Parts: sequence; C-alpha cells; structure tokens
Amino acid sequence: MRYEDRSQPSDAAPPARPWYARRATLVVAAAAVAPTCLAGWVLTQVLAGAGPDDSRPPRIVMPLAAPAPTAAPSPAPSPSTGAKADPLAGRTVVIDPGHNTGNFQHTDEIDQQVDIGTNLKECDTTGTTTNSGYMEAEFSLDVSRRVRTLLEGRGVKVLLTHEAGKARAWGPCIDERARIGNEARADAVVSVHADGVSAGNRGFHIILPAKVKGGGADTAKIVGPSRQLGERIAGNFARTTGSSPANYLGSGTGLVVRDDLGGLNLSTRPKVFIECGNMRDAKDAAQLTSPEWRQKAAQGIADGIVGFLGG
Ligand code: ZN
Repeated sequence: MRYEDRSQPSDAAPPARPWYARRATLVVAAAAVAPTCLAGWVLTQVLAGAGPDDSRPPRIVMPLAAPAPTAAPSPAPSPSTGAKADPLAGRTVVIDPGHNTGNFQHTDEIDQQVDIGTNLKECDTTGTTTNSGYMEAEFSLDVSRRVRTLLEGRGVKVLLTHEAGKARAWGPCIDERARIGNEARADAVVSVHADGVSAGNRGFHIILPAKVKGGGADTAKIVGPSRQLGERIAGNFARTTGSSPANYLGSGTGLVVRDDLGGLNLSTRPKVFIECGNMRDAKDAAQLTSPEWRQKAAQGIADGIVGFLGG
C-alpha cells in the first residue's frame, strides 16, 4: 500500500531517462548470450509516456513476457583477461517487507509519529489486503524471503528488516526500517509492497526517492543510484512476471518519484520501493495470491538487484 499523503503529488517528476532506454542494451546482450530466449518475446505494448513538464512524449516499445533466463545471465569474462572477481562477493542487500502482519493488533504503536527529516509521519501502517483477506504484510514477507533465498544463492549477504512474528509483533517504524539499511551499509535496499487502490487499476510500479533535504533526510547522494536500481528492477520484474507498468500512475513508465516516504527520505543507501500489483483488483489479486507468481516476482526483484550490483 502506498503511504498516502494526498498533499503530495504521487509522481512529482517523470523519469528523466526511462528505464526502457537501457532495455535496448539488455536485449542486445541477451541476444548474444541466448538467442533462443528471444523467440518468446512479444513486443506488444507501445507506451507513450509524457510527464507534465515533458513536451516531447517518448514513443516506447517495451518487450513483455520474455522468458526468464535459466542460466546465469551475466556475460562470462573474456578468457584473455582471466576471471574477474565476483561482483556479488561481499555485497550486502537489505530487503524490507512492507508493514507487519501484527500491525492490525498494534494500532496505537504504529500510529505514533516518527521524524522522517522533512516532517513527522506515522510509525507504520497496516497495509492493505485483497478482497478475500490476504494481507499485504503476508505478501511482502513471503516475496522478501524468496528474494533473500535467490540472492543468497548468488553469494550476496541479505538482511530482512523484520520477519513479522519473529521477535517483532509490529513494525518496525519507517525510520528504523531506513536505519537498518544505513547501518548495514547496504549496497541496495528494496522495500516490498502491494498497492490497495480501486479495481481496474493494475500493474506494478517502482517508487524512487525524490531529492529532499531536511532534518535527518538528505537524499542527494542516493537519487541517481536509486533510479538505476529501480530501472533494473522494473525491467526484470516486467520480464519475469509478464506484468505491465501500472496503468494508474507513472505515465506508463512503472516509475514514480516521491518525497513523502520516510523509508526513502532517511535512507543513505540506494533504495526503492516496489508496489508489485493492486491487491484490490481481482486480476492482480489472483496473481499476488499465487505462490508461483510470487516466485516470479521475487526472481524479477532479485535479477534487478543483481544487475544493479554488476552481477
Ligand atoms: Zn504497503
């Protein structure tokens, strides 16, 4: 669920350089590595994304429904240059499962105000649910654990900000969630969510930190790398899940910049949120409640992180 703050525009700035722009390079690389993988690619969607202050709407052709590579996708180092050091060795990633299944029973605690630098905000929220009662907090923890397993399999050190019932009956608060990533000196941080908006709104989006400065918040150094992280995840998530970028915000890019999220404002490490789909839409909910789909979602997130780390 998006942390709602209607006083703030939800997508204050369009992406300066759509992540699709870099997809072309990825497509070429993929073609070189595994040409047969391209057979199933379906180039179906033409997206015209234009922000409010962009007078030149880009015409974007986005590949959807491409199969996930079954082997390690990173190009092998040239034999003439010898083996390179593993770019994933010694790297740390923090995965932040949005909300906590216990938050519903601890509304007083999660309603307390915390300082997010630019302003005060609630410690945490309950998150949303599907119409059948599947909680966003269950979803986010399940996907986060799957991402952890995938990244650990690549040799990455992974920390989760919490595991719900395990020693955390509620929370953590959003400032603590940011602090966990900062203190771990994480190379990348991803907060996992699903949205809760009206039916008919579908698809995923990545939330990128705006440039903010105030109190303990100063995102100047993470805005650029966080966008790179977000673009990587968006491209890989679309590929592994077949999902489209959200049709209700982000001008079809799947990327949204926000300045009102404490978890981003207080981060000193490259960090994004992902809203994997809309729990209140029946079609999206059918995916979000499927363990098989959640594995694809986790694969896309993990692949995006690995790509960002250079693996
Ligand atoms: Zn959420």
